[in-house]
Amino acid sequence: MEKREHRWRALGCGAGAGLLLGFVDWFACGLAATPGSLALASLGLGLAGGCAAGALAAVLGRPALASGLVLAAGIALEGLSIASKELAGTGQLVAAAAVMLLAGLALLGLLRDDLGARWPGLAALATLPAAGWLAAFLTEAPLAGVAACAAPLAWIALARRARPAVLGAALLAPLAVLLVAQRAPASPAHRAPPPATATSAGPSVVLLVIDTLRADALDPAGALASFAREGVEFRQCVSAAPWTLPAVSSLLTGLWPSQHGAVTAATPLAEEITTLAELLHASGYATGAFTGGAFVGEAHRLDQGFEAFEAGCERRFANFPLRQPLVWRLAKNRHFPLRPLVRAVDESVGLAGVLSAARAWAEGETQRPKFLFLHTYQVHDYYLYDPDLDDAVLAAGPSASARFAGRLSVPPSELVTADQADLDHFRALYQGRVRAVEELFPSLVDALEPLVGADALWIVTADHGEGFDAASGRVHHGGRLHEDLLRVPLFLRMPGRLAPGQVVEPSVRSVDVLPTVLALLGLPVPSGLAGESLLPALSGERPYPATAFAEELAHGYGLFALRQAGWKWIRAPGHEELYRLDEDPAEKAPLSRPVPEELRAEARTFAERFPPRRTVEVELDDATLQQLHALGYVH
Ligand SMILES: [Zn+2]
Repeated sequence: MEKREHRWRALGCGAGAGLLLGFVDWFACGLAATPGSLALASLGLGLAGGCAAGALAAVLGRPALASGLVLAAGIALEGLSIASKELAGTGQLVAAAAVMLLAGLALLGLLRDDLGARWPGLAALATLPAAGWLAAFLTEAPLAGVAACAAPLAWIALARRARPAVLGAALLAPLAVLLVAQRAPASPAHRAPPPATATSAGPSVVLLVIDTLRADALDPAGALASFAREGVEFRQCVSAAPWTLPAVSSLLTGLWPSQHGAVTAATPLAEEITTLAELLHASGYATGAFTGGAFVGEAHRLDQGFEAFEAGCERRFANFPLRQPLVWRLAKNRHFPLRPLVRAVDESVGLAGVLSAARAWAEGETQRPKFLFLHTYQVHDYYLYDPDLDDAVLAAGPSASARFAGRLSVPPSELVTADQADLDHFRALYQGRVRAVEELFPSLVDALEPLVGADALWIVTADHGEGFDAASGRVHHGGRLHEDLLRVPLFLRMPGRLAPGQVVEPSVRSVDVLPTVLALLGLPVPSGLAGESLLPALSGERPYPATAFAEELAHGYGLFALRQAGWKWIRAPGHEELYRLDEDPAEKAPLSRPVPEELRAEARTFAERFPPRRTVEVELDDATLQQLHALGYVH
């Protein structure tokens, strides 16, 4: 009889400890901030693990063993999450080994004194994720996480000597700290522009920027190519910069990077720069932006001129940078990926999330013409596992080497040193992402067209491309100015205003988009822009712009590129490359001949006309930094 009682007690201890672990984890992450699905996953994992531990202890007739096993597993899980991608770097293995050691000590401590069967053992469990979260909140150092995992050991030591009242107070103290700390600093607030006085009855505008979409990545028989045939397709559109912030800033301002100054992660778009959204808002447009965030967010002031600006459209868990439940950190772990769990509770909604946010806003805006800016990282993030988008590609191959196989997220800094076979694997994932965008695109047009009108101006483009060439080290984007990064798709569609089926072969620039949009809407084009309206060239009145420039001014690169009459010249401090794009479009072999004097003269004129703008560096908030880190930008 007594033995049977012990068995039930062991099972109860295990289940109770597991549930407590799950609940405290949920609490530590912020009850309101944790999505219901993840909270349930935390509770479910805790309960399942606790029942398993309890069942084992019941067989052995050892109630203390049940909560001891749950505690040890909890510490071990916390240790594994230390080795997650967010904390990748030195000290990982040492940290994980230290945590495993702590797990063993905790287990021994509980077994020795039979504390696990009593409430101090459960209290020890409760401190574990809470302390882990606190450590994550205060610092990203792995050792802090290890120290947090030691907290339950301190509990066990305390429980041997202290009175229950002291223990209770000690338990409440960290919970009180957690409640205060939950008021985390908010991300920079969006500043909506004052109401416009002008009114316009002009057509609506939809600008879709598919981040990191190479010009040659689209399927000629796909939905985007067929959309292009309904308007004007520019076959050679050159971006002004090779990464998101300066490139999107140039697109939204019609200025070269030198002019707008948003050229490093620490230099946002200056307040006095005028954006397309500000111009359209002043002309009576309702302006709404729905983006994947990071650089395309409030922190870098790309929200200027937008009445509505939602930067978290692609993530199911908004503003969830640090307080991620243990179960989620574990699932996304770099070394022990839990694909089934990620499949069950995935965080990415991609372009579909952008669409639903945009639709919800546009449905509420019935009076004024609309400017909708849509931006997606769905293609950009091909190295961050997304089950909906990647499972089919992963099943079909080409498979990755042991170095990358099974990884849920790969920092782009590792892609740079990958061999070509692995890059082919990532290229397949990338193309899978592009296909997913192409498949979603018709439903995006179907959903938005009734809200923006059949006469709306649609612009589909990208901010920059992506490299997959291991032999020449042209991998990922940023830090160089080759064609794989600068050539982007550009389609304009405006039924009744732009004849369908036009294909433009001469070069145009992303800085030409803003003046072309204004010209199409019949609005005045401000002076001092780098770009020019493409309408006179489209009607044959004027030639297309003769010269395209691009700049990369981050991290002291000091890169400048010039594209003119088939020439491409890339200039870096102490180094230059010259190509004939008509003979060598992939820039395989730089020419050994001297750079033509007319190109040098053009570069001198550029430097005189567009001297680098004085920029002010800002400190970014933690949430923005963490998102940039996850995208591979901030190291
Ligand atoms: Zn980008």
